Amino acid sequence: MKKSDSNRLTKKQWETTARRFYDIFNDYVVIYDPIDGGKDFIIRYFNPKAEKTDKIKKENILGKKVTTAFPSVKKFGLFNVFQRVYKTGKPEHFPIKWYENNRIAGRRDNFVHKLPTGEIMAIYDNPTENKFFKDGLKESEEKFEAVFNSSNDGIIIADQRNKKFYTGNKVICKMLGYSLNELKNLSVLDIHPKKDLPHVLSEFKKQSERKIDVARNLPVKRKDGSVFFADVSSSPMIISGKPYLLGIFRDVTETKKTEEALKESEEKFRAIVENATDQIFILDKNQRFIFMNPAVSMLFGKPAEKIIGQSIYKFFPKHIAEQFVKLNLNVIESGKGNYSEQKMIIGKHEFYNSSQLNPIKNKNGDIIAVMGITRDITERKKYEDELKKMNEKLKEIDAAKTNFLNVISHELKTPLTAITAHLGILDDFKNSLEEQGRTSLDAIERNNQMLRMLIDNILETSRIEAGKFELNYSKVDINKVIKDSANNLKILSEKKGIHIIDQTKKLPLIDADEMRVKEIMNNLIENSVKFTEKGSIILKAKRNEKHIQVSVIDTGIGIPKDKIKNLFQKFYQVNSSMGRRYGGTGLGLTITKQLIELQGGKIEVKSELGKGSTFSFTLPINNHSQNNLKGGVK
Ligand code: ADP
Repeated sequence: MKKSDSNRLTKKQWETTARRFYDIFNDYVVIYDPIDGGKDFIIRYFNPKAEKTDKIKKENILGKKVTTAFPSVKKFGLFNVFQRVYKTGKPEHFPIKWYENNRIAGRRDNFVHKLPTGEIMAIYDNPTENKFFKDGLKESEEKFEAVFNSSNDGIIIADQRNKKFYTGNKVICKMLGYSLNELKNLSVLDIHPKKDLPHVLSEFKKQSERKIDVARNLPVKRKDGSVFFADVSSSPMIISGKPYLLGIFRDVTETKKTEEALKESEEKFRAIVENATDQIFILDKNQRFIFMNPAVSMLFGKPAEKIIGQSIYKFFPKHIAEQFVKLNLNVIESGKGNYSEQKMIIGKHEFYNSSQLNPIKNKNGDIIAVMGITRDITERKKYEDELKKMNEKLKEIDAAKTNFLNVISHELKTPLTAITAHLGILDDFKNSLEEQGRTSLDAIERNNQMLRMLIDNILETSRIEAGKFELNYSKVDINKVIKDSANNLKILSEKKGIHIIDQTKKLPLIDADEMRVKEIMNNLIENSVKFTEKGSIILKAKRNEKHIQVSVIDTGIGIPKDKIKNLFQKFYQVNSSMGRRYGGTGLGLTITKQLIELQGGKIEVKSELGKGSTFSFTLPINNHSQNNLKGGVK
């Protein structure tokens, strides 16, 4: 997780701020960069005051060694002080001494510090010239204020000896809620909660001893008593021979809050990972564990410290480890996640595992590791296997049922043919029969016809399913087929007072089996007539790119939504008592769907209960696979 540090004061930031102060100092400030472990010092910074007094332009001196720029520095004794301060980190005062080289001569009073950045800072003044600072910093206060007030951070200067504030910028006044005059009457001890003072002072001490650069999250007390948190950088400075402390304050309350929220969510996240029963781990590119949750320990029966840093080859038999490595490499190479299931054998333990692997990328988008979540799916696999077996059994039962029906139908066909033949003979004597006899004969004929239809349908769907069904393709005029079907059913429909309205558009000839398309049309229109009591039946047909689409739209009883999916099942009738009344078999739509799909088309139903139904089917215009079309629909 990313730490929010945008509001943090960096070393560089406080250094820049501090240097802006040195620019306006009435003291001479020079900063040196030690080289070769303190053998010499390169001049990095030279403030304007120093330029003036030492009669040298900073462009001519920056980047030069101190021994070159000030040839007498060793003789003068200051060089030794530099080396000592560099080594010990402790500031030193090099009291007033006469300095002279071929360019300048004068008395120098030097204070030497080591900065947190490791550089050496020399602050010196010329006591003979010290007409500034008679009243301390007052005269330059305006200049200070200009720098102070251009900063976004709170800046304050305190006397190092009594910790009293000397001055501060507008930001610090706003942060603390004091006016500048009020602030000048306070000391460091007044702007921190009492109970935190020991900690605050120890942090400042650490800073002065260069143990830390910035004191983080120091509690700071406002005038109204409320507390905020600030990162504080303090650096010592000598002004007119007096030691001061420059403090730069940055309010990090918000940052702290964000950090705490992040920490909290990190803890929550950790709790989830730690308590997960799934194994969660991260592998580096060399297949070594770099992170894992307790579930991984449980699986391997080893404590975490024995797993971290080890290769997965150590924990799995070679063939399984290799399988995993292959999957990991796949993720690393493709940069994509991967889900897989595998059978695992570890010792005597045999189980099924699922694994989800995902790449972990660095900021540049390079893959640096793979995160995996694995889960024992043995139970699920067991259910799946059982389900599969059950499904197969059901299929067997279904096949046996179809076979049984098939055999029965064949067996029934012979006596039925005989009955039909005898009924034909009996029909010749119909007129000589009594009324009761005639009614019975009619009933026998009607039922005989229904039985034959049922048996024909069973045999037809069985043949299609068994793949023993041949289609005879030719160029079919679909408009004509629709018209003929409508005419055939006209008498039946008009008996019920229902009109069949043909609204088909002119269509191209299609590759199809004409007889079978007629059967499809008859089935659909007949159903519509059967299940419509009033209104009309509209026939529509249009071309859809490479297909024709035919719709039979009725204003009949409609079909409940949840029943639509069952319509094409064998022997299914939405309402079986109605089926008996209308004399259906529940096989019509099964066969219709099979015939449509055999010819490369599709059927769909839209219906609203009580309002009507629309059965639409498509058929390809050009059927290139017609030669090898030979049943086989399930
Ligand atoms: P059936 O021989 O019973 O008509 P089908 O397979 O042709 O068998 O139809 C199955 C069932 O679908 C019918 O019994 C009926 O419940 C329903 N059905 C079919 N077409 C329509 C329609 N146009 N309107 C309402 N219900 C229909």
